[in-house]
Amino acid sequence: KQELLQKLKGEENISLDGQKVKLYANIGNASDIGAVLQNDAAGIGLFRSEFLYLENDDFPTEEEQFKVYKYVAETMAGKQVIIRTLDIGADKQIDYFNLPKEENPAMGYRAIRICLTQKDIFKTQLRALFRASAFGNIAIMFPMIIALEEVLEIKEIVEEVKKELDDEGIPYNKETQLGIMIETPAAAVISDDLAKEVDFFSVGTNDLTQYTTAVDRQNANLEKFYHPHHKALLRLIKMAADNAHKNGIWIGICGELGADMELTEAFLAMGIDELSVSPACILPLRKKIRETGIADRREEILADVLG
Ligand code: PEP
Ligand code: MG
Repeated sequence: KQELLQKLKGEENISLDGQKVKLYANIGNASDIGAVLQNDAAGIGLFRSEFLYLENDDFPTEEEQFKVYKYVAETMAGKQVIIRTLDIGADKQIDYFNLPKEENPAMGYRAIRICLTQKDIFKTQLRALFRASAFGNIAIMFPMIIALEEVLEIKEIVEEVKKELDDEGIPYNKETQLGIMIETPAAAVISDDLAKEVDFFSVGTNDLTQYTTAVDRQNANLEKFYHPHHKALLRLIKMAADNAHKNGIWIGICGELGADMELTEAFLAMGIDELSVSPACILPLRKKIRETGIADRREEILADVLG
């Protein structure tokens, strides 16, 4: 079986009826890149940058971050690397951030909310990311978005960072793609507005499931109520996909659901452009896509999961 999968290296992710999907990998540490390349991923769809902060006992400096991002960009040698900005809070706590104790951390002070409040932390990361963009194909992605205003503010801060780098004569890729995670129901529902402001969407189904169904993703006692195939969730993904495509941007899925082969047909039917999964899932998913053809059953498949 393993041998059969190995034979798929170098092959395209293309369905029987000719639909192509990009297969990217999710990583949580620069040391995971070996597995990304070994499994023939076309890029990194989600690089969780939290490890840089979790491994340190103080804020990682711009230089420390720059070195890691540059290494990843160079090692991926021109393949796209989507780096997500800091996503701590909720389940990921870091002492030196001195975050307040919260009654309801999953809905609290986390991710982009920290970055838009403590802009020095955000700008340090953005400067490191833009500097590294000169060494490969980096895209930047922002987590936990709920409002258009957040995206506009992020873009203003990005412009400030670019201007600073220009003034300092530091090179960076001026075309660096900016994307957002669709991982709150609010973002999915206003994805028509959001799509006009960014270059891509990536659906975070782990949080999107949690927030859509109000079921804590960490609580094992709620397993019976955790419905990753819930129609409400799949309708939100379809809505985001339609709004992305209407506005000429691409959409991927980087939550666990992307690797769920029971939904591969549905994702093809929605026209999902990219699936970002753990490195070990790349070749099995490539096999699945190459064995799937949906051309004449698109509506049927969608009706089946969306109701
Ligand atoms: C998600 O929420 O689906 C996601 C990919 O991000 P994380 O699992 O890091 O919250
Ligand atoms: Mg998430």
